[in-house]
Amino acid sequence: MDVLSTLISAAQSGHTAHAYLFEGPSNSKKKEAAEKFASFLLCRNLSACGSCDSCIMMKSGSHPDYHILSGDYDTIKIREHIAPFFSDIQMSSPYSNTKVYIIDEAHKMNSASQNSILKTLEEPVSNVVIILLTENSEMLLPTIISRVIRCTFPAEETDFENFSQDLKEKFFDIVKNIESPKASLRIKAAADISGQKEDLNNLLDMLQMYYRNSLVAKYTSRPMLIKGPKTDKISAEGAASAVKIIDETRFAIKSNANKHLAADVMVMELHDLYGNT
Ligand SMILES: [Zn+2]
Repeated sequence: MDVLSTLISAAQSGHTAHAYLFEGPSNSKKKEAAEKFASFLLCRNLSACGSCDSCIMMKSGSHPDYHILSGDYDTIKIREHIAPFFSDIQMSSPYSNTKVYIIDEAHKMNSASQNSILKTLEEPVSNVVIILLTENSEMLLPTIISRVIRCTFPAEETDFENFSQDLKEKFFDIVKNIESPKASLRIKAAADISGQKEDLNNLLDMLQMYYRNSLVAKYTSRPMLIKGPKTDKISAEGAASAVKIIDETRFAIKSNANKHLAADVMVMELHDLYGNT
């Protein structure tokens, strides 16, 4: 049974926790799982039946007891985000027995925000379920972690073809510029990467796929195993280093390092792997 089914069956037998932490890499399905779990908890029949008034409100995105804090924030701050988000947490709902509050990218909460959440976790409001989503639980207070049910979601296999045409074009442009001998084009590549918001992780995934494919290509006689683009301009050692460099960049950005600087360094290091070409 997967994580979500386990949580759902526990909830159906009356075991719902006050707070959960759904953790997993950016391409895991933790957000979808949280939304689905909320649908179950809010459904009149506790089954996400799809036909009760609660399920219909969920489907139309207008359920008054489903709250999600999600956006392109660098930092989740107490006054701007947390306080308004939880302003009605103490009020019981005229609609349902349960209220669900989801915080996406919970690791972006600053320490004031985390401390205020901690207070709520220490004195749970009855019939309120809080779900924190994160790629990086190390950035959450240990005291928060100790008060939530931790659920880990695995990375989903990505398929290059599933990315939007726009993003694919942007990716090929960026790769061409990383490989270019012209410094001005490499600067442009770094700016194009750090300028991404929602698609930043997707772009890093695509870049990683590109070098991983190149690495696999050096060691396999079966090219049909490789899905998506690759480069012939780099050695196997270079491709392996590239995969690692992208991992490090991803980690730095997740840990709130300067995005522009991280992209600059990554492009420079990737370019250097090409030797003299
Ligand atoms: Zn329902």
